[in-house]
Amino acid sequence: MADCEICGRDAATQHIIEIEGAQMSVCANCAKGKKVLEKIEPHSEPDKRQRQAKPAAEERELVDDYGTRIRHAREGMGLSLKVVAEKISEKESTLLRVEEEKMRPNDALMKKLEKELGIRLTESIAQASGRMPVSRGEPITLGDAVIRKDGKR
Ligand SMILES: [Zn+2]
Repeated sequence: MADCEICGRDAATQHIIEIEGAQMSVCANCAKGKKVLEKIEPHSEPDKRQRQAKPAAEERELVDDYGTRIRHAREGMGLSLKVVAEKISEKESTLLRVEEEKMRPNDALMKKLEKELGIRLTESIAQASGRMPVSRGEPITLGDAVIRKDGKR
């Protein structure tokens, strides 16, 4: 980060401008209305935002109609309970209880069924409830607020 050569403040985004043939490194404010040759964005900023935007990996839950989804997928593939149970090394009775939604499959069973039948049995919690993940990031700093697209070149 460099100080603005005109006003002396920290320039979050350095603007290289040309004034009467001389190049100066100034802040966004002082670059206003000038011929901007180059903009130097601080590198740390985009990384920080990316990290914050990444959703938590395990915020998924079993869908309500998991049994129906499994049965439809299985019947669609023309497979019997017995065949699917054998493929995923589970008891036929276990699979039947899951299909009848009398038993919630554990993570391991769920993943095996998803893979075997090519279906999804989970959905993200945020999606299911209509909630949006709230980003509890830092407040917008003055530096961020000043960064804008300068149409001129
Ligand atoms: Zn300045």
